[in-house]
Amino acid sequence: MKIAFYTTKPYDRIWFEPMAEGYKMEIIFLEAPCKPNTLNLAEGCDAICIFINDQITKDMIDRLCEMKVKAILLRSAGFNHVDIEAAKGRIHILRVPSYSPEAVAEYAAAMLLTVNRFTHRAYTRTRDFNMSINGLMGTTLYQKTAGIIGTGKIGQSMIRILKGFDMKIYAYDLYPNPDLDVEYLDLPELFAKSDIISLHCPLTKETHHIIDKEAICKMQEGVYLINTSRGALIDTNALIEGLLSRKIAGVGLDVYEEESGVFFEDLSDKIIQDETLARLMTFPNVLVTSHMGFFTTEAMQAIAIETMENAYALEHGLELVNKVC
Ligand code: NAD
Repeated sequence: MKIAFYTTKPYDRIWFEPMAEGYKMEIIFLEAPCKPNTLNLAEGCDAICIFINDQITKDMIDRLCEMKVKAILLRSAGFNHVDIEAAKGRIHILRVPSYSPEAVAEYAAAMLLTVNRFTHRAYTRTRDFNMSINGLMGTTLYQKTAGIIGTGKIGQSMIRILKGFDMKIYAYDLYPNPDLDVEYLDLPELFAKSDIISLHCPLTKETHHIIDKEAICKMQEGVYLINTSRGALIDTNALIEGLLSRKIAGVGLDVYEEESGVFFEDLSDKIIQDETLARLMTFPNVLVTSHMGFFTTEAMQAIAIETMENAYALEHGLELVNKVC
């Protein structure tokens, strides 16, 4: 099997190069993102392998089918970046449904502790021998309330962590899980009762801008918001308004609705064109990171193994257990 591997970073090669050998497959590592004008690089390949910011449109699926590419291997759990309707019945979409939910939940907790206790600012101050703690007062999490939106694998892991702080957990999910020791509320109630809100649902038509102006209005004064799921769950302009009015005390964003083409890249010598992102960066109580909640050794290894297993199953006509369509 021959696979065109788009958006390759050095940390992908470390895992995938030896595995390609083990699975006796040929991987063409491409640094280019998967775009209409880079699709031709996959000519002669059986599959393409993409990451979360490679947007696959209907036109691109048409072209892949013409090129007789049989599958799109996603190195991710989420599949909102692929036009699934256009792919149905024409090309296999295989994903990695779970690689390390704990990695993402632990990162969400780290973001919460950072924005709440200003460790990001304390770090830069003390490096400069500015030992003043003025302006760095946080809040104690003990016995505060957390609202978890989406109680799947990552949400459940986050719940376990926050219970360690003895926090009261409220939750919202389309499909409440009766086995969880949490109180499910409807969204407006969750917004009104939570000191911190952490997003762990997928991006769908229903969850697009689930945090908008109206939602923020319903939240408590001084709420903390953490998003490690998908950027477009939050209406960024409404978020900025919430920060300006000081309704929101702190925000941790590992994802951003316009992250494609920006996140994962070193743009330190470029002029940033996205004024909304630039504005977000000016708030001392906002922490933006580059979609790295998943980024642990364990998770990277699991992504590589599961992706290669997906390719192997496809090549050998085995059951495609991780198929999206
Ligand atoms: P999961 O499928 O186990 O859980 C998702 C939960 O969301 C499910 O319980 C589902 O019922 C619920 N849900 C679906 N639609 C909903 C809606 N409209 N309202 C409320 N709840 C809804 O997924 P997971 O493994 O826990 O991952 C959650 C999300 O985390 C993924 O969709 C992905 O976007 C994101 N993620 C981010 C990173 C990162 O590095 N930052 C890594 C992996 C996953």
